[in-house]
Parts: sequence; structure tokens; C-alpha cells
Amino acid sequence: MRILVVGSGGREHALCWAISASPLVDRVYCAPGNAGIAEDAECVPIGAMDFAAIIAFCKQAAIDLVVVGPEAPLVAGLVDALEAEGIAAFGPSKAAAALEGSKGFMKDLCAREGIPTAAYRRFTDARAAKAYIATKGAPIVVKADGLAAGKGVVVAATLVEANEAVDAALGGRFGVAGAEIVVEEFLAGEEASFFALCDGEHALPLAAAQDHKRVGDGDTGSNTGGMGAYSPAPMVTPEIEAQVMERIILPTVRAMARDGHPYKGVLYAGLMLTAEGPKLIEYNCRFGDPECQPLMMRLQSDLVPALLATRDGILNRVDLRWYDESAICVVMAANGYPDDPQRGTEIRGLDAAGADPDVKIFHAGTKREGNRILADGGRVLGVTATGTDLATARERAYRSVDLIDWPGGFCRRDIGRRDG
Ligand code: AMP
Repeated sequence: MRILVVGSGGREHALCWAISASPLVDRVYCAPGNAGIAEDAECVPIGAMDFAAIIAFCKQAAIDLVVVGPEAPLVAGLVDALEAEGIAAFGPSKAAAALEGSKGFMKDLCAREGIPTAAYRRFTDARAAKAYIATKGAPIVVKADGLAAGKGVVVAATLVEANEAVDAALGGRFGVAGAEIVVEEFLAGEEASFFALCDGEHALPLAAAQDHKRVGDGDTGSNTGGMGAYSPAPMVTPEIEAQVMERIILPTVRAMARDGHPYKGVLYAGLMLTAEGPKLIEYNCRFGDPECQPLMMRLQSDLVPALLATRDGILNRVDLRWYDESAICVVMAANGYPDDPQRGTEIRGLDAAGADPDVKIFHAGTKREGNRILADGGRVLGVTATGTDLATARERAYRSVDLIDWPGGFCRRDIGRRDG
């Protein structure tokens, strides 16, 4: 088989790495990829949003399956465009990706189906939103409806902050993504990420993971795309997993099918584990980045048959096996991330750091210039390690981090500390 992965981050590197290990696969391509992906796949210089060029490449290279990594092309309808040309694709249709693309759509579905989530209202008018906020009080959460690269959510500690967030979003800070907002109840608890494959009718739980969103140690500083993750997540016990499947994932899959847009692909539930049980914070329509990296290191089964079965609607015939070990990913980011990451600095020592067979260094924002690897983005590397337990995996990951000679980058030193 020939598989094309679309995207250029650490998540796509992990997917290329797992796919290239499949005996079913002859060639793996990645559009556009990065310097590290080039070691596991053939990179083709096509952007993830260039649908016409992706389709042309698939025809020319006789691609059997396209795996779409990031949310932007999914929400914009890349899977629909590929399937319309007879090219098999893994990922939700544009209509199904609205679970991530529109928070209002997701919340309305939860309300209709009785899926546990924060109480909410949708607004396009700032005065009405502020009046609602005044009746509810702080803390309260204000969210831009559409995709805002992880920056569209304000957890407001005061009414002033909440009202400012309303003005910012409805005043155009996020463009059309913020033309509508959701104001919702603040949920207290621990967060966890839960992943399931869905084929339109069936759902297969994958492993859960814990991520670290803030840029600084001790969960301080700005929100980021994610500074590290580990799996399994000890808080997601088998009982909680069963509740999440029963109360959240399966009702969603049934409702999406009934409403005429069956959900196929990875369904990523951002959860708050509250005193009343797990509640849905948000849905994402793809693997998490960096959660995908530890997940792929823990996956014992061949990923490719599961991807094909998801697309073909026969997930009920698939059973995935996982290594019992823990896996952890420590993200290394360019200095200045997330506000103003410095590009072009040289990274040395990657061979020594990646020599441990239980470590894999996934690349995100990197590029090669001659023999040199240069930083070319905000999040740059995902140093991922396995171990018999979380503490062992963490120690191994940081040992490799410390072998990387990159004065232009930094990482958090406390990934996985709370649970290991
Ligand atoms: P989202 O993009 O919806 O996942 O929101 C980003 C982050 O904001 C989440 O990971 C949570 O930490 C926080 N958050 C979002 N909604 C809520 C809520 N209703 N209550 C508490 N925290 C929230």
C-alpha cells in the first residue's frame, strides 16, 4: 500500500513512524512533512491546505489511503474533496468535523443528547452575552465559536475579564471564528484527553493521555498547543473509560449518524473529571499533538488496519493491543514560544540523544539545511520515551533532552511529575 500523511507536526511524524512500521505498507509520503519526518517518509512539498495539489499528487502516486493529521484541512473539507475523487481518506467529513470547528454545534448536540458538559448559551450580541454573564457570575468561560488555534478560550476569574473576552471575540480578534461565542459554566476538576476511533457507527477506545498546556513549569504562563503528554493517564480508570464511552462518545456517534453526518476518524474528547463524573469540555476531530506521540509508542498492534477499518466502517472487527508500559513526550520549543518563537537556530546532538532504543525524537518545526537541522517553528521537537513506569520513561526522556545541544530552545522540566 501507499499512504500519504497530511501535515507537518510532531503528531504527523508519529503517524508516519507508526504507519511505516506496517508490513502492509510499501511507501509512506508526507505533505509537507519536516526534517525528521523525512527519515521515516518521503516528504512532498505540498501544503496541507492545497487540496488541488494533494489530489493531483494522490492520483499521480497511486495513493491508497490519505491520513489527515491537523484540524484545519479536516474542518475545511479535505476528506470530502478526496473521497469525491475516489481517493480513500482517514478523517471526518467537513460536516462531521464541525464537532471541533464549531463549539456551538458541539454544545447543541450535547444538550440534545443529554451528554454531560458545562451549561452554556450561544451569543452574537455582546450586550446579551454580558447580561447573561452578570446573572451567572465568575469564574466563567468565554469561547470563540470557531477554530482559533487554541487561543479562543478565556477562563475568566472576574466579570471584568469575562466582559473583556466578549468584546475581544465579538470585536473581531479571531475574525469569523469569533463572530459567535459560547459562554459556559466553569468546571472544576482534573483534565484528561480521551481518544476513540469512530467509523460512523462503532467506536473503539484508544488509550487516554494527560497533557500539559501551559508554557511554564507548575502549569504557569501562557496556554500553548501542548508542552508534553504521557499515557496511560492514571486518572482515567477503567470505570471512567466505561462512563466516557457510554455517556459521551457513543451517544455522539449515534447522534451524528442519525443527523446525516456520520463521524469517521479520531474523536478526541477533552474531559474534565468532576465530582459528578467526567464531563466533556471540547471535542477535537483528530489526534492530539503531542498526545499522539506517546500513544503511537505504546501501540503494539499495526495501526494501518485500524485506520482502514475506521474509513470502511468495520471497526467492530478490530481489536488493538497496547504495551503496558508508560510513554511520555517532552516538547522542546524555540525560545520565545508561544508569543514570538525564534527561528533558524541550529540543533545539535540529535543522533546521540536518539540512540537509546526506547527513545524516539519526533520532529515538529524543523528543517534541514545541508547537514544542519534548524528550528523552524514554535514547537520543534517531541522527545518521546517508554519505560516500565512513568518515572522510568520520564527519566529516560529527560536524559535524551539533556543530550540535545540547542541553546535556542527550552522545555518544561516537570512533564509527568504529578503522576510519576
Ligand atoms: P478548549 O479549547 O475548549 O479545550 O479550552 C481550552 C482550555 O480551557 C481547556 O483545556 C481547559 O483548561 C479550559 N476550559 C475550557 N472550558 C472550560 C470550562 N468550562 N471550565 C473550566 N475550564 C475550561
